[in-house]
Amino acid sequence: MNTNTPLPAHTWPTLEPGWVWLCGAGPGDPGLLTLHAVNALRQADVVIYDALVQEQILSWAPQAEHIYAGKRGGKPSAKQRDISLRLVDLAREGKRVLRLKGGDPFVFGRGGEEAQTLVQHGVPIRIIPGISAGIGGLAYAGIPVTHRDVNQSVTFVTGHDQSGNTPSSLDWTSISKGSQVLVIYMGMKHIAQISQRLLDAGRSIHEPVAVVTTATTDKQQVLETTLGTIVEDIARAKLEPPAIICVGQSVLMRQVLDWQGMAAGVAPRDLDPLGRGRPAESA
Ligand code: SAH
Repeated sequence: MNTNTPLPAHTWPTLEPGWVWLCGAGPGDPGLLTLHAVNALRQADVVIYDALVQEQILSWAPQAEHIYAGKRGGKPSAKQRDISLRLVDLAREGKRVLRLKGGDPFVFGRGGEEAQTLVQHGVPIRIIPGISAGIGGLAYAGIPVTHRDVNQSVTFVTGHDQSGNTPSSLDWTSISKGSQVLVIYMGMKHIAQISQRLLDAGRSIHEPVAVVTTATTDKQQVLETTLGTIVEDIARAKLEPPAIICVGQSVLMRQVLDWQGMAAGVAPRDLDPLGRGRPAESA
């Protein structure tokens, strides 16, 4: 990419010295960055990035120092404080600081905590949203996160809490009953407990589930399974995190919307996977 190419005409904000911009980098594919993210990458003195941020994206900020602040899921939150205070220090040194996080910074990304610490220390901030893996990653797998024939609500759930355990605060019965479609982040480690809790709460063993790993990257893998077979299927396919797990009938839509498969010449498996028997556009 030619970093000298101007962005499209717009009043782009200036990343001033002493400011921190918390920015989403999207789920992986660099094309899913926002123009605000590109504008930020071009101005930053320092980019502090997470494990899930693709290296290629950093090459769009060749003038900047790149600092890795990766955290693996479930580690104690003390390190989070270190990262936040590092941002404060860099801002106080007068740097133009870009804090780059996978997906959207405010979706299971601890962006809210970092932003709060910055504000508490008097550091001015800007938030740049990104495409969250639970929406964009599923779209790359051909799964619409909402679909008129399937769901009127969607629940985003984290598979573990700060201590690394399955969130005990979660009322799985209510979650299960309250939403036709669940999108689970960080669910791989505790998938056995999570799937069991959903079954205990009344979801069917036949409920369609998709597991999308390293979504939107060249390494994307998609497993279609059911709540009853997910644990063994993940093991058999040797799937590794990061993964988004989608539970619900919308997973069936992949049979007609696997656009990456279709682009590679694979015919859609079923043009009417929900069995509506009518054109999709009719009321
Ligand atoms: N802020 C991020 C989420 C961070 S939590 C966002 O909005 O997407 C980290 C979890 O996000 C991972 O464990 C995984 O569940 C999910 N995730 C992030 N990127 C992903 C990707 N490319 N493919 C699949 N899952 C991803």
